[in-house]
Amino acid sequence: MNTNRIWLSLAHMGGREQEFIQQAFETNWITSTGPNVDGFEQSLETFLGNGVHVAAVISGTAALHLSLILLGVKPDDEVICQSFTFSASCNPICYQGAVPVFVDSEKDTWNISPEFLEAAICARIKKGKKPKAIIPVHLYGMPAKMKEILSIANHYEIPVVEDAAEALGSMYGGMPCGTLGEMAVLSFNGNKIITTSGGGALVSNNEEYCTKARFLATQARDAAPYYQHSQIGYNYRMSNIVAGIGRGQMQVLPDRILRRRSNNQFYRNCLAGIDGITFQNEPAPAFYSNYWLTTIIVDSEKTGGITCEDLRLALENANIESRPLWKPMHLQQVFSHYPYYGENVCEKLFDTGLCLPSGSLLTEDDLKRVADVIRTTLRV
Ligand SMILES: *Cc1c(COP(=O)(O)O)cnc(C)c1O
Repeated sequence: MNTNRIWLSLAHMGGREQEFIQQAFETNWITSTGPNVDGFEQSLETFLGNGVHVAAVISGTAALHLSLILLGVKPDDEVICQSFTFSASCNPICYQGAVPVFVDSEKDTWNISPEFLEAAICARIKKGKKPKAIIPVHLYGMPAKMKEILSIANHYEIPVVEDAAEALGSMYGGMPCGTLGEMAVLSFNGNKIITTSGGGALVSNNEEYCTKARFLATQARDAAPYYQHSQIGYNYRMSNIVAGIGRGQMQVLPDRILRRRSNNQFYRNCLAGIDGITFQNEPAPAFYSNYWLTTIIVDSEKTGGITCEDLRLALENANIESRPLWKPMHLQQVFSHYPYYGENVCEKLFDTGLCLPSGSLLTEDDLKRVADVIRTTLRV
């Protein structure tokens, strides 16, 4: 039997990435501008459509940091962030010396609860501070309930920055995730649906934000023959080499989305009807997830006591990598003193959930091996 390591989510090159890098070498564009950066931004703009603009930077985290700077987030300001996420969603709030206010998830999408979002906004306004921004996350590729979130955001006139780092290719109401808020961030980190080894992008319908982001990301140089600065700058711009990988990856993005979705369907078929195993589901036709990661919830009351940790260990024993769901930010030591509004939804997801191997390189045999270990462990 094949016992090679099965990983959660590996980089998957399309084949033409090196041609774009080669072009950069041949034309000596070995810098943080150039045809690959322009070309990568353009292909993202075309893919997302709806007239959006894109600024390519070194990481999703840098893009999020720039978005907060562009919204004027300053020390002691408050920014609302989904608690159930990766720390990169809220670290940039702290880079600005601002205060993250964490909000729980709702059960349908596992993303920020509109109900608790509104409760949090009201409570913070009552305390004397209106939040400066709202950061919903499309976790594991699943679109957040954007209609409700945007309606609350509009009512209180607070801009939304979508964390679409995991959701390139996901759609909500026929619109791509990343085109719904005032701004959005994408990530091309090594484990994402496409990768540039490391990279990110700021997306907005407002071209001025992207122009300003590029300016800030290249050390905020004013227009002058010498180096002149009237603002603090950052060294955040994507390099022309890295963008070459991105251009190659954009050619295969539609295939990668279909593969991740077909992995998800494969697991659903193999694990259908097992008591105590449920999936993160698209709650209505308006939701289309890229299923960046396939995730399951294990209800040990229905599995005869088998927990998600038992499954993780059984998979590890079979040389298969799986991973608990994101540990909520308000439970992290470093963020535990910040405000939190919620009712135990994301805590429960964290306690009972597992991410299954989901990369687009996985073969049907790999997926079958994973499902077999799960079925054997559950004795079904
Ligand atoms: C990966 C990720 C980020 C950060 O992206 P980097 O490119 O790694 O900086 C932000 N938010 C979420 C939810 C992510 O999964």
